[in-house]
Amino acid sequence: MKAHDGMYIDGAWRAAAGPDTIAVLNPADEQVIAQVPAGSAEDVDAAVRAARAALPAWAATPPSERAARLAALRDVLTARKDEIAETVTAELGAPLGFSQKVHAASPIAVCGSYADLAASFPFEEKVGNSTVYQEPIGVVAAITPWNYPLHQIVAKVAPALAAGCTVVLKPAEDTPLTAQLFAEAVDEAGVPAGVFNLVTGLGPVTGQALAEHDGVDMVSFTGSTAVGRSIAATAGAGLKKVSLELGGKSANVILPSADLGKAVAVGVANVMANSGQTCSAWTRMLVDADRYEEAVELAAQAAAKYGDRIGPLVNAKQQARVRGYIEKGVAEGARLVAGGPEAPAGKKGFHVSPTVFADVTPGMTIAQEEIFGPVLTVLKYQDEDDAVRIANGTVYGLAGAVWAGDEAEAVAFARRLETGQVDINGGRFNPLAPFGGYKHSGVGRELGSHGLAEFLQTKSLQF
Ligand code: NAP
Ligand code: MG
Repeated sequence: MKAHDGMYIDGAWRAAAGPDTIAVLNPADEQVIAQVPAGSAEDVDAAVRAARAALPAWAATPPSERAARLAALRDVLTARKDEIAETVTAELGAPLGFSQKVHAASPIAVCGSYADLAASFPFEEKVGNSTVYQEPIGVVAAITPWNYPLHQIVAKVAPALAAGCTVVLKPAEDTPLTAQLFAEAVDEAGVPAGVFNLVTGLGPVTGQALAEHDGVDMVSFTGSTAVGRSIAATAGAGLKKVSLELGGKSANVILPSADLGKAVAVGVANVMANSGQTCSAWTRMLVDADRYEEAVELAAQAAAKYGDRIGPLVNAKQQARVRGYIEKGVAEGARLVAGGPEAPAGKKGFHVSPTVFADVTPGMTIAQEEIFGPVLTVLKYQDEDDAVRIANGTVYGLAGAVWAGDEAEAVAFARRLETGQVDINGGRFNPLAPFGGYKHSGVGRELGSHGLAEFLQTKSLQF
């Protein structure tokens, strides 16, 4: 894989301040495919200075011109979509088909949505005798995870640029090549120097230096709840705005009137996609007592079919972590009906078998903690109130699904869930729908106009 040995700062690739590097692995064969620089506080400082210097001109650039740059960026990403898919497959391990359909396509759609929104968003409105302006919040630190490497970058950078903010990105250490490719695309799209900057490196070094830098006005973070909490504390001390997309433990609630076969099939596919490394995955399936055993059997059969179709996990640490959770599930008395803690035989790479647990009770570790692997838990509920209690009974609240024979019944149930998104009877992904968490799943929203508003602050003029 082609890698830059520098940082993208102020419109050019520059040598890093220090000699440290990060080895990038292909999780499918455990081979080193590239080296990228591991940034220091000095690199972060240079990037933040560039972003600050570029801020006044970019903030004053008419929204229509910012929209034109984002449209150009969408077009470059579209032209390079095969290269994006190959890069994500190489450093994340996702099967190429999934990389094309999701990892490359979804960020193109999101970037396009912000090209449109930048042009149409009401940055100015009249309220009584006032004019209220929506102005950019300033320099944004974007810190992103590896699980949807380009999507997570675009979901922050595109709305920030649409808002008139400038950005310093610190991508995940496991997936820096996708981030470098994105920086090339931003450059090709004619975004002015300093408006977008990339510093690769380690979370506790580069990420931390960025989150606490005085020149940063807002931190937009996606990743684990533990790191999110520490970033929120750092941002709080610096009185910076913070937006957090954190973990999840979403419920897939199958009501007695639902089409069970469809709900189980879609539910299993949802959990196995991206090898279970999806923060919004419906990792808890809730089924009524009458149809519980039937659901368990269908889920076990569906999961077994995924055996050869999912990729590895991103790294050895995640593989060990997920296998540890599977062992814990067995130890706590859950019934293993598919998969298990052993890695699939004869396979190189950081694989985990698609796994399904039955007889899971709401208090078990595997029903409470985010596993981030291809592991589904199936829980039994007695009645609707019980289902609501179980569904809401974790610290998380990111996403979920409700299935019922009647849409109104599903909607009524969904309104009782403490969660940011709910798919009704298998509803489709909408890049304009606000995405984000209730409770410990986060603060703020991404995507669509709500995602754009996160990067704005208001000024009112009275007449
Ligand atoms: P993570 O540590 O929270 O990483 C997210 C981002 O934050 C990465 O860029 C990371 O850099 C950076 N970071 C880490 N420590 C930091 C610090 N002290 N200050 C500033 N930035 C910091 O997540 P992870 O290690 O990749 O995965 C661990 C668990 O997080 C997963 O098992 C999963 O449960 C959860 N997770 C959730 C999501 C989600 O979308 N909600 C995504 C990924 C992971 P490095 O890459 O160098 O660590
Ligand atoms: Mg980490």
